[in-house]
Amino acid sequence: MIASRKFLSLLLSASILTPMPSVALAPQDYKQEAIANIDSHAKMVQVMVDTVFSYGEPGFQEFRTGAYLTDILAKNGFKITKGVAGIPTAWTATWGEGGPLIALGSDEDDLRGVSQIPGDPKIEPMVPGAPGHGEGHNSGMPLQIAAALAIKAVMEKHHIKGRLMLWPGIAEELLGTKAFYVRDGLFKGVDACIFAHVASDFSTAYGPSSTGMVSVEYTFHGKTAHAAADPWDGHSALDAVEIMDVAMNFRREHLPLSQRTHYVVSNGGGQPNIVPGIASVWYYFRDVTFDSVKTLYDIGNRTADAAAMATDTTVEHKLLGTAAPNYGNKPMAELAQANIEAVGMPKWTADDQAFTKLVQETQKRKVEPLKDKVTPLRPPQEDRTPTGGGSDDIGDIMWTVPTITVRYPSNIPNMIGHNVTSAMAMATPIAHKGAVAGAKAVAMTVLDLMMTPDELTKAKAFFDGDQQKYDHYKPFLSATDVPAIHVNDDYMRTYRPLMEPYYYDSKKYDTYLDQLGIKYPNPPTGPIRKITPPKSSGDVTGGG
Ligand SMILES: [Zn+2]
Repeated sequence: MIASRKFLSLLLSASILTPMPSVALAPQDYKQEAIANIDSHAKMVQVMVDTVFSYGEPGFQEFRTGAYLTDILAKNGFKITKGVAGIPTAWTATWGEGGPLIALGSDEDDLRGVSQIPGDPKIEPMVPGAPGHGEGHNSGMPLQIAAALAIKAVMEKHHIKGRLMLWPGIAEELLGTKAFYVRDGLFKGVDACIFAHVASDFSTAYGPSSTGMVSVEYTFHGKTAHAAADPWDGHSALDAVEIMDVAMNFRREHLPLSQRTHYVVSNGGGQPNIVPGIASVWYYFRDVTFDSVKTLYDIGNRTADAAAMATDTTVEHKLLGTAAPNYGNKPMAELAQANIEAVGMPKWTADDQAFTKLVQETQKRKVEPLKDKVTPLRPPQEDRTPTGGGSDDIGDIMWTVPTITVRYPSNIPNMIGHNVTSAMAMATPIAHKGAVAGAKAVAMTVLDLMMTPDELTKAKAFFDGDQQKYDHYKPFLSATDVPAIHVNDDYMRTYRPLMEPYYYDSKKYDTYLDQLGIKYPNPPTGPIRKITPPKSSGDVTGGG
């Protein structure tokens, strides 16, 4: 019997000429076990999603979030390595021996100034000026942790060989770390990577998408003087910033439609009666290919140098982040799509739909119910009109190992991105159910990859073939660039103490909304409840 089975499998593996239907994916009952395991962790997912929401940490300040999530993983048998790639808040959690190595990641940072009370359809900051999860990055790592625990349980029970590596997207809103992860070899030996990103739909895609980007701060150094008594003795660094911005804005007319260039003046000087001796402007340059991003970045650098020349100042360029254009793996996307369809959309309740409508109406967004169908597999966008758009530094990993992004339905349709409206649902049952559904699709896809060497071979062949024919990885980092871990340090020194009274205490309250005194799906009727913050774990360093 054993001999004939061996012979059969030899025959099957030799039958390259006759394409076989997708046999030998993970058995249905193994997938059912993973689904049951995730359902049994639904409460844990809710607590993780709500807790990370309440911590509300922006890029490079994810100290408390990281300590909390790695603690859960360590307690569940994962080996934690902290401070990877020279980034204090970055970490990996690994488990398993031998077999394929699958990486699971998602972002966990939030955005400056978008603090928002969850479950509230009106714009109402929890702490005015503080950061908030106005993109929903609080849900992604909880999803991946739930998936990883289920995969581990199934693999242990059935003695499946394989390894998992969980990793967080640190400072994604600054496009600040994934290129450094790649440069530091974090993905060496990884066979495939599944990235999860919050959305209002349940989907995946392959081929090119999202823009590449370089984030760079130009700091001009001039000469200060009394702005009224002897301005002729000064060389204004702020003049250089303004000349650069004017020049870039004129240049826009002659740039391709696919580019996106935006900036903030990060230092405009001290006070008007002093000629500013130092001033900085922070640019994001985006376009759809490696080469077009590089062209735009070069234009920015030349314009900065020209502005310095025009004002007799000097300029230093500091790269703060980069992102490669995204490129999803087709065989993996097809696998994931089948699992997304098998999982289907979460069962939304009348309360979920009522809250959605209330938010959309209050915010004057298009009224559309929570989706009841998963999105069909999105084909490549190679021939799309190149109109540009956002970036995600998962691109750097996509050009390093076969990778896909699974978008899971934890948010309301038609909200504004990078905005308080995108935070309103992110600690409600909508966010919790979307993360549970996403975890199931990820777990099932990982089991398929772990148990089907052919699927990993196909993923690798697509990566080495079609993807490399399309373009090659050209990292924007130089050997000397370092992660911009200082960003948001001062900011969080101010806001962390003000946010602590709103940290979620899951031992005392069933949900975060309960703690705040909000009766979902109804809006809050009075001020939200403050609590005495739990004692610092001692792990929160540097974010201060
Ligand atoms: Zn994001």
